[in-house]
Amino acid sequence: MKILSINAGSSSLKYTLFEMPEEKVLVSGVFERIGMDKSMYSIKINGEKQVIETPLKDHKQAFEILINELIKNNIVESLDEIKGIGHRVAHGGSYFDKTVVVDEDVISKVEELIALAPLHNGPAVTGIRAAQAVIPNAVNTVVFDTAFHQTMSEENYLYAVPYEWCKDYKIRRYGMHGTSHKYVASYANKLLGRMDTKLITCHIGNGASISAVKDGKCINTSMGLTPNAGLIMGTRSGDIDASIVPYMMKQMNLSPDEIDTILNKKSGLLGISGVSSDSRDIEEGIYAGNERCVLAQKMYVRRIIDYIAKYYVELEGCDAIIFTAGVGENSIHTRKEVVNGLSVLGVKLDEEANNCRGKVQKISTDDSSIPVYVIPTDEELMIARDTFNLI
Ligand code: ADP
Repeated sequence: MKILSINAGSSSLKYTLFEMPEEKVLVSGVFERIGMDKSMYSIKINGEKQVIETPLKDHKQAFEILINELIKNNIVESLDEIKGIGHRVAHGGSYFDKTVVVDEDVISKVEELIALAPLHNGPAVTGIRAAQAVIPNAVNTVVFDTAFHQTMSEENYLYAVPYEWCKDYKIRRYGMHGTSHKYVASYANKLLGRMDTKLITCHIGNGASISAVKDGKCINTSMGLTPNAGLIMGTRSGDIDASIVPYMMKQMNLSPDEIDTILNKKSGLLGISGVSSDSRDIEEGIYAGNERCVLAQKMYVRRIIDYIAKYYVELEGCDAIIFTAGVGENSIHTRKEVVNGLSVLGVKLDEEANNCRGKVQKISTDDSSIPVYVIPTDEELMIARDTFNLI
């Protein structure tokens, strides 16, 4: 059965077509600059990638082009072979604790949550509508970044603000990257050979979050109402004293949108280093002796260690620590500093094993108190699996 994984942004559409249940990737790519000038799309078949420049009016046209490509390249003979389309949706609020089949009620709930994820939920609905129009016989599903975290207890998801804020304004911790945390947690359980595990999953990319996962269920996570909570990220501050917000708004005469932009787009590694949000540039800066890069990296690593320590205590132990996403999969330097910072817990790095990028690898020594793994995430596959299972 062929299942399409879709991740729609306001001007982009990422896609991967899987043969399920074999989990074989048939085609993948991305449409970019939809509705803008210089639009283009990429298509990768059997490891060969082509980039084609063409006007892209809207998401519907992107789907039409995709279908033509699939037929032209003999990937499908007819549209009807695509039985399911799984759409990534950032925010499911408290409505959704799992992947669901799309109907009008689901769409209206996703739309209702646009205020909590303005850059993501709106485009996701656009993607769903376009898929429905172009591939009318497929079952559409929505896979939420927040769903995996819905198992958190009230004491973990509430903020200590007036209790009514949660009910009246939906102010609570929702968490993000749930599809990724779920994927690597289930992969780790396979590696460990059991389900009754205590895991700390570290999704460290440009956006970053850490989860505490017990017996396959999330019990706590570092992102909050929005993605700007918890860890220091590429451009996001993560946790700060909430009163900094009104104080700086008054000091600099900033509007709510302006302070939001500063805390989401001009803070984090970029804000402290003044150089870049990209951990590769920060590493280069460190080697070149840039003190602000050294400082940014120290703060970044400190915060990761703090969250791992916090969840170690909350889980009352840990069976594995997992690194994933851009930095977690590729930054030998950051992993080394984090693992060395956990030495008080008896965690030990295997330097040679850590010298790896983008592959499943145990990076701790055999006498480490907790095994540490790199597990590349695969959110597209998780979306396809959920969609296949629902169908
Ligand atoms: P996003 O949150 O945008 O999905 P990714 O998970 O793709 O982010 O991570 C992107 C980040 O991964 C980059 O900004 C960079 O900091 C980091 N990264 C990628 N490759 C490397 C590398 N070889 N060494 C260190 N960091 C890397």
